[in-house]
Amino acid sequence: MAYPKSLELLVDAFERFPGVGRRTAERLAFHVLRDPKARELPRAIEQALTATRICAVCFNVAETDPCAICADPERDSRTICVVEEPRDVEAMERAGVFRGRYHVLMGALNPAEGTDVAQLSVAALARRVAREAPQEVILATDPDAEGEATALLVLESLEQEAAERRVAPPRVTRLARGLPAGSAIEYLHRGVLEDALEQRRSLRLKPPGK
Ligand SMILES: [Zn+2]
Repeated sequence: MAYPKSLELLVDAFERFPGVGRRTAERLAFHVLRDPKARELPRAIEQALTATRICAVCFNVAETDPCAICADPERDSRTICVVEEPRDVEAMERAGVFRGRYHVLMGALNPAEGTDVAQLSVAALARRVAREAPQEVILATDPDAEGEATALLVLESLEQEAAERRVAPPRVTRLARGLPAGSAIEYLHRGVLEDALEQRRSLRLKPPGK
């Protein structure tokens, strides 16, 4: 059975969403036809697209550039917490466990999905660290294989940048082990996040002086 062309296009559009299969896409499309409230969706999409931008400092999604966190003089600029996604910033802020600033990588290293270092804001972070000279960079990428590989990549990049500029590399720490393996920062509860932050450990690639 074929749907009318216009409806088929709508089903196709929904099917592009992550985690949405054909059946769910069909249900959503019919829901749009039936529920008047669902007709606000195009406007909401349009607004989100036009009103949001990427903060040039931390790469978080915001309505202002710099974002509210980067522009807040009360936030501790001596600590930068590096996360994969804007959702992770939201989770940390909701938990209220961190008062420093963030850097959003815009993903994680995932060769299987074709995400490589050029798509992440790693080079921008290295330049930012050289410019701002924070006391500490906390790597809060997810506790899974991609997150660990990404943390290592960031560490390498920071140490390389410091070596090129002939300055001491920043203190780099990683959230404590013991986070549920394969979990994601955005789903962690406040207590778990707080412990992981408090018990963070130092990371270092090369011995000092090299
Ligand atoms: Zn920002």
